[in-house]
Amino acid sequence: MKTALITGGSGGIGEAICRQLAADGFKIYVNFAHSREKAERIAEEIGGAAICFDVSDNNEVISAISGIGTVDLLINNAGVSEIGLFTDISEKSAQKILNINLKGSMNCARAVLPEMIRRKSGNIINISSMWGQCGASCEVDYSASKAGIIGFTKALAKEVAPSGIRVNCVAPGFIITEMNSHFSEEDLKLIKEDIPLGIFGQPRHIADAVSFLASDRSEYITGQILAVNGGMVI
Ligand code: NAP
Repeated sequence: MKTALITGGSGGIGEAICRQLAADGFKIYVNFAHSREKAERIAEEIGGAAICFDVSDNNEVISAISGIGTVDLLINNAGVSEIGLFTDISEKSAQKILNINLKGSMNCARAVLPEMIRRKSGNIINISSMWGQCGASCEVDYSASKAGIIGFTKALAKEVAPSGIRVNCVAPGFIITEMNSHFSEEDLKLIKEDIPLGIFGQPRHIADAVSFLASDRSEYITGQILAVNGGMVI
């Protein structure tokens, strides 16, 4: 049975990815930083294991991942956002966003790769955002972190392809999760008007894209950014 590690597996999109990949036959490690109860419940329901570490802390990442052993599939999904003018976001918050979203993805990839390279097989899927593709006003630090993930995906894909490892990225649009819970009814109405398909994304839409990239049906695809956004960014 292949092993998949999903960072931020306790969140809205992460939970859907954990459940889909478990249904696809993977043994799942559900990572969390704070939401222990939720991660343990998901893990129990899908026959996986919950694993606590902060993706932005490289030592924690190395020690947690060495405890898992072989990771066949890494999903870099953990992420945080903060809304505000670039000049209003504190330097501390900006660091946190970059450290979790971008550096956290790089920390986890760096920790799983030596073993993948040794086995000449592995798969890494990074979760970016449509804002990493086109930029969002009042989410400048977040957009920069997510654009960084796109650059990271493309460069790493080139570097590790000769070792039989694929690296791809999913760029979600507006997906209904806790991350978007602060939007008012009025905001949501306006956002919906900008979605050509006319509906908000659900976590399962992202999980379906991840499931495809995690499978052999995508065996000739690497270094790509798969946008799942209802047409909001084309
Ligand atoms: P969410 O429900 O808020 O979940 C975020 C997850 O990240 C939680 O599991 C959280 O775990 C985890 N996390 C946060 N800081 C962490 C850290 N330092 N170390 C390890 N895990 C950490 O958000 P979501 O909507 O599912 O988002 C998942 C991913 O999709 C994020 O990368 C996000 O940027 C991206 N995305 C979301 C949307 C959207 O519309 N929702 C759109 C584009 C992209 P704890 O609760 O345990 O801290």
